[in-house]
Amino acid sequence: MINKTCYCWTCDKFFHHLGIARHRAMHRDRKENCTITYDDCETVTHQFSKRKERQK
Ligand SMILES: [Zn+2]
Repeated sequence: MINKTCYCWTCDKFFHHLGIARHRAMHRDRKENCTITYDDCETVTHQFSKRKERQK
């Protein structure tokens, strides 16, 4: 199945492939993990929230 759009599983939304970078940056700014399927059908999970959490 060829899909020319990108999809953000975190937001459950489709994005134009030119808009997904900006969308990904939004998640990064908000320090949210996001899973995105790109237009080449590659699915990537970005671990933007993977920072030093409480070290106790
Ligand atoms: Zn998203």
